Amino acid sequence: MTAIARAFSFILLLLLPLVQTAWASLSLSPEEQALVDGHQPIHVAVMYDFVPFSYVEGGTHKGFVADLLRLIETKTGAKLRARVGEWSDNLEDLRQKQVDAIADVSFKPERTSFILYTTPYFEIPTVVFTDKRFGGYQGLADLSGKHVGVLRNIFYIRELRKRRDIRISEYDDYESLTRALAFGEIDAAIQNLTSGYHYATQNAYTNIKMAAEFQLDNVGREDLRFGVRTDKPAIQSLLQKGLDSITESEWSELTNRWVGTRYSELVDRRQTVALSTLEREFVRQNPVIRVHNEDNFEPFSFYEDGQPVGHSVDFIRMLAQRVGLEVEFVSGHSWNDYLEMIRSGQIDVMTNIVQSPDRARHMHFTTPYLRLAQGIFRRQDSAPITSVQGLKSRRLVLPEGFYTYEQLTQTEGFRVEPAKDSLEALMRVSTGNDEVTIEVMRVAEHLLQKYGIPGVVGSAPPQVIASEPLSLRLAITQNKPILRQILQKAMDSLTEQEKRQVLQKWTGKGAQASNFIHLTGQELGWMESRAAIRLCSTRQQLPYEDLVNSNDKHIGVFAELLDVMRHNAGLSVRLVGVDNFREALGLLKRGECDLISRTPPGFEDPDISLSQPLLDGTLVIATDLDEVYVRSFSQLQPHTLAVMEGSHVQLYLERNYPELILKPYSDMDAAMSAVAAGQVFGLVDTLPVISRAIVTSHHSDIKISGELEPDYPALLATRSDETLLLQIVNKAIQSIEAEQFETVTNRWMQVPILAQPPDYRLITQAALATLFFVALILLWNRKLAQLNARIHESRNQLMTAHEELKIKNRMLEQLSTTDRLTRLKNRLYLERAFEQQLLQAEQCSTYTFSLLLIDIDHFKRINDSFGHDQGDAVLTDFAAILKGNSRERDIIARWGGEEFILICPNTELNAATHLAEHLLQAIRRHQFAGIGYCSASIGVATWAAGDTYKSLCRRADQALYHAKHSGRDQVSQQRPTTSKPSPTTTTMLE
Ligand code: GH3
Ligand code: MG
Ligand code: MG
Repeated sequence: MTAIARAFSFILLLLLPLVQTAWASLSLSPEEQALVDGHQPIHVAVMYDFVPFSYVEGGTHKGFVADLLRLIETKTGAKLRARVGEWSDNLEDLRQKQVDAIADVSFKPERTSFILYTTPYFEIPTVVFTDKRFGGYQGLADLSGKHVGVLRNIFYIRELRKRRDIRISEYDDYESLTRALAFGEIDAAIQNLTSGYHYATQNAYTNIKMAAEFQLDNVGREDLRFGVRTDKPAIQSLLQKGLDSITESEWSELTNRWVGTRYSELVDRRQTVALSTLEREFVRQNPVIRVHNEDNFEPFSFYEDGQPVGHSVDFIRMLAQRVGLEVEFVSGHSWNDYLEMIRSGQIDVMTNIVQSPDRARHMHFTTPYLRLAQGIFRRQDSAPITSVQGLKSRRLVLPEGFYTYEQLTQTEGFRVEPAKDSLEALMRVSTGNDEVTIEVMRVAEHLLQKYGIPGVVGSAPPQVIASEPLSLRLAITQNKPILRQILQKAMDSLTEQEKRQVLQKWTGKGAQASNFIHLTGQELGWMESRAAIRLCSTRQQLPYEDLVNSNDKHIGVFAELLDVMRHNAGLSVRLVGVDNFREALGLLKRGECDLISRTPPGFEDPDISLSQPLLDGTLVIATDLDEVYVRSFSQLQPHTLAVMEGSHVQLYLERNYPELILKPYSDMDAAMSAVAAGQVFGLVDTLPVISRAIVTSHHSDIKISGELEPDYPALLATRSDETLLLQIVNKAIQSIEAEQFETVTNRWMQVPILAQPPDYRLITQAALATLFFVALILLWNRKLAQLNARIHESRNQLMTAHEELKIKNRMLEQLSTTDRLTRLKNRLYLERAFEQQLLQAEQCSTYTFSLLLIDIDHFKRINDSFGHDQGDAVLTDFAAILKGNSRERDIIARWGGEEFILICPNTELNAATHLAEHLLQAIRRHQFAGIGYCSASIGVATWAAGDTYKSLCRRADQALYHAKHSGRDQVSQQRPTTSKPSPTTTTMLE
């Protein structure tokens, strides 16, 4: 190469960035161009106190946003003017169209009426900050045994507390939390990235580092975007183009400058996907991709009202949008036709497809994005199928060309008949005699319900290999490998939160009794790499579990909850039967099984990790009938206690109460007989196991005489290196709904003597019997000795019954005054408390009390946009905020719906109003998982002489009404004497 040529190419290289910039500004629409050419500045409202994003220092606007605005200016040629103001004023100005745009706004559905959003330029994650010497942090497991600080009443505190191995302290604000970490009070602090970073740098705490993003299911990120007034869409698209043209290195420079260098390693996701030159060229030449759409694969891909709809339809559209592609759906063909069409290149993409070696020869696959449990569906009146053999003896009707169809037609011994699609297969099962089908449970449930197909039931027996869960992917036609690459990039760019949102939209409602869970790409990959999870389950542990029919049939509470978990998480499970926990532990450590069905709580072993609690439980002791009530382990010290050999109970007691003398028995009956015969003092095990054993073996000579460990939950365990499995299991546990727990436990735990309401008949009979015996004593003195024994016995019975009655009554009392959803007090309780206050006020002239009536603003919209379940979650979070921010003496109750009431004893109007303001502030600060921010309005009234329950409530209600009508998110008080309310309005800060 000549020197001139070399110099020329060098200059070209230098010019390259300029060429790119010019290219970006060239692609403006006429409207956008007019904005640039008009030289009219675009006014962007920014905050003055949002460090490090947007703040004022020395009279100038600084921060991430200030630099971002300048960057967009150079990219687009537009003039941007920052207008500094308070957040609530800024938002109001945008609503009133006083400014063109606003910075640092989060997406909220209710704001779309007056805001056009750009994609986020930043998502603030929640981060684990640690001491520099902390060592590597991979995930929650690394916090095990550590002391961790969080903000008081942070919304995930309940989730976090389930991890019993983590010690948690709560702090009032970010500053004290960060300080606690810097001064070694705690090992790690969990808080949002920006505040942690801010306080660490401001105070020069050099011993603190950002370890990693905090991953917990409902912890999302706060997104920061530009919002533009709705009548100026060209400004929105101009800003968007500006954002889109910012290069990777410019982004990382910007974030490094303002949010720290660790940040870019920590988090690297943005809305638009950076494509290579080749990929961009492909998109330009093939702007439309043809994607298959099924008739009846609900809720994933189906055709309704002339439209392709479903999860996969939304999902592929979202991917396409990320990379600038458009989607054309091809509907109306059978699965088999589509397979032909993708081979011949008539369509580009198929969704929801399972990879097989045969298919991989003709198409390219992405990584999986869904994992779905399958079930075997049969007529209700036909025999259940629990083994592969059972399946082989039936006629299988399967949608032609589906993965399972392909697999089973090639497997010896199956009789397979083709159906057009899933719907036809289910119909034929419903109307046939011997037919069965294998289908994704979620799909079958939808179809059965939607078309009212009668008489078909499904189940997913763990040992039938033919109905394994499916990992679904995208398939791309063979001659477009680059399209696979592009779609894969788009898929990788989605945050877990985004994926979860699309999934929830389609699986959240309509389906019965199951709560679909979102699995991350990593988790899906892990599950695929495993044939099945080997689960050690214990024989003869009813009602918890048992294995019958030579390990073929798993029954009990755990078996049924496992079914729900398998369904929700798409787990494939193989059962490995064991006799006790010790055996299971050995198998787990040797790698011969992956999961233990029940492990004692708090079990410390470096090789194993414990799951979240699956069920609550208690440890009790059974003794012979003469023993009195046993309250604690200390009472048992000189005695010998029976335990089941190798059981979790034995290991638990050995580790936690080494001073006890234990005698292991391999057989429950033998242990109970030993108790009855006085050879041992008592038998220790869980309440359900013991009470069931007493009843089923008719051991009327022993009784439960005490609760030794009220907090003995059932946990599962994995090997400690299997962090992904633990993560999946925990998610699966969380996915079980309250009603499912209730039905399952009701079915299995109801043991006549313990779980039923007290038997009044028994008490009366016992009482009558006692009277009768007393009469006999009078009549036949000489029988006294004999009778005495019997009286003693019946009195004992009476006392036990009485004791139980007292406990039940206490429980009933608590239940009847507690709101089920929020666990706050309910209206019943409140009315009683109110009466007491009233009495006190009427008796003492200096005493008064106040009432706060709190109503969430626009709650209906939350329900409408996010679903009722999310609405419920907001209510529980809301309750926690009220609890955490009121005083010990205040009585908080759920009044009904989204209304709450606080009775503040011994509190006059101003103090009550002050408290109300404090509550509103706490509410405003709180980010509700998956929803963002909410506000509420509060009406305050104080008791005055002559007030009744009704009149005081009416005043609080009027005040609330006033707060609502003055714009919500505020407190209003109502005095009894003046008819005019005197509202105090607080400033808004969202
Ligand atoms: P406003 O600001 O005027 O209070 O508006 P709003 O939408 O909050 O008020 P409205 O009283 O019209 O709506 C209350 C909604 O609360 C209606 C109802 O569907 C919903 N709701 C009531 N109880 C529950 C519940 O237990 N769970 C859920 N998710 N929603 C509930
Ligand atoms: Mg209401
Ligand atoms: Mg409301």
